[in-house]
Amino acid sequence: MDRPDRVAGAVVGSAVGDALGAPFEFGPAGVYTARFPDGVGTMCGGGGWDPGEATDDTQMAVLVAESLLERGGLDLPDMFGRFRRWAAGGPKDIGLQTEDVLTSGEEWDLAAALHFQVNGRAAGNGSLMRAATSAVYFAARGRTATMDAARRIAALTHGDRAAWEGTAVLHELIRVALDGGDPLSAVQDTLAGVHGDHRERWAGVLAPGWHPEAATEFNGAVWPCLGAALWALRTTDSYENALAAAVDVGGDTDTVAAVTGALAGAVYGFGAIPARWTEPLHVPLPGYGDRVLRTPGLVDLARRLDGASPRAVPTDFREP
Ligand SMILES: [Mg+2]
Repeated sequence: MDRPDRVAGAVVGSAVGDALGAPFEFGPAGVYTARFPDGVGTMCGGGGWDPGEATDDTQMAVLVAESLLERGGLDLPDMFGRFRRWAAGGPKDIGLQTEDVLTSGEEWDLAAALHFQVNGRAAGNGSLMRAATSAVYFAARGRTATMDAARRIAALTHGDRAAWEGTAVLHELIRVALDGGDPLSAVQDTLAGVHGDHRERWAGVLAPGWHPEAATEFNGAVWPCLGAALWALRTTDSYENALAAAVDVGGDTDTVAAVTGALAGAVYGFGAIPARWTEPLHVPLPGYGDRVLRTPGLVDLARRLDGASPRAVPTDFREP
């Protein structure tokens, strides 16, 4: 499998997971198996979502991608401005914390920190859910740079460092998968790059023996969300089965499946994603007119992100 297949797999794989899980949000464990007893899941719609309609997870991932491509790199005020325009456009769903931050009227570099200061809790999974596109863009820069970029994008809406570190871990595991490596084998090395205050807790939920039933909080929080995605990847052997397992965890199903889909898509590639899932997939962009992205548009976006990716500067490089 070649890199373009993995790159498209990460971006489309995440969007498919989002749309597949959306109708089951806040459902109990086993909800996917109960709905599809023959194991052949479809984009069934429900809960206010049309079949194949992607939610805030993918909508924000597209905004991240377009900011990176149009600004030629990480322009945090621009990205925050795009998020705000989207939030004001009346998306069908938006995370509570993300909404508070984006509608506070505070500046881009203060809004999330002030929210955390006032509320004391800001470790939702809302920065993980939108990370597939930025993970593709920064992958070629190597581990330190992609983890750092993840933290900075996460911090736009999430003041809690736990969310930054989790998003950094996801960026790095996607980078490994895009290079053809096994993200599960890369967890230990990745943990070494996690901030010391947060490493132990992350090591717990990312451990090989961890199970979603061991979660100590709802999977709308960053730790069990990424933990469940890794568990789904670890306990299955295909993109399709990983996604089924992710939705079956229940709870915040669209986001758990979006995160699982980013990883599984990078591992198994675009060609492994069933056509019955990619065909109805569509991503409305509230605040941006009638724009709707479909699978070919997402594939194109993914390949442009990979192509535009800033390459690491060789260590022997010297300014003339
Ligand atoms: Mg969502």
